[in-house]
Amino acid sequence: MLARARRAGVHAQVVPAIALSGFEKLRALCVAEPTLHAAYGLHPLYLREHRPEHLDALRDWIERERPVAVGECGLDFYVDGLDAGMQRNYLRRQLELAKEFELPVILHARRAVDEITAVLRIIGGLRGVVHSFSGSIEQARQLWKMGFLLGFGGPITYERARRLRAIVAAMPLEFLLLETDSPDQPLHGHQGQRNEPALLAQVCAAIASLRTADVETVAEATSANCRRLFGF
Ligand SMILES: [Zn+2]
Repeated sequence: MLARARRAGVHAQVVPAIALSGFEKLRALCVAEPTLHAAYGLHPLYLREHRPEHLDALRDWIERERPVAVGECGLDFYVDGLDAGMQRNYLRRQLELAKEFELPVILHARRAVDEITAVLRIIGGLRGVVHSFSGSIEQARQLWKMGFLLGFGGPITYERARRLRAIVAAMPLEFLLLETDSPDQPLHGHQGQRNEPALLAQVCAAIASLRTADVETVAEATSANCRRLFGF
């Protein structure tokens, strides 16, 4: 999978954690393969796995490992049965950690873009990316005005995603990041398959075509954005 990614021009990857139980495995992976960069965080969809003391453990991991980012963290109000109050608490604590350690945050925001934007504003002094952005152009603008980047992947390859495609076509390139969210979010033409990082090149080509720009222009700009945000 890595060889295919490298052949497709994907030279480095951020691999975000989802729960404390996977941190050790992720660390070992990124030590073995230095082109992979770990981010540590407690993902809202795995809320039932998290315990308050995992936030203390996360703090230790961040202090010891100095990851490229804190995340994924965020809010998911799309999936039923995930306590909103608990989600908010885990998010706020992780944002405070990101601020304390001056690290970017990788945010998951599903049906929660306005609330996340408001929390970012209240805490202040943060930077990061809202990955797989799925809001409106106005919500996007609020985020990039605060200096936040927006990540786009497989969903923009579908013609029916008109709102997202219009955002990608018009937004300032300096706030755009490419992602695949592998193994999730398969691209158009790959429905039902496990997604993988090599297909980032197709995300890049789709975005270039929507912007009527060169693939190289989009690749270079988004790579520079990535280096600027994550420091590699
Ligand atoms: Zn996510």
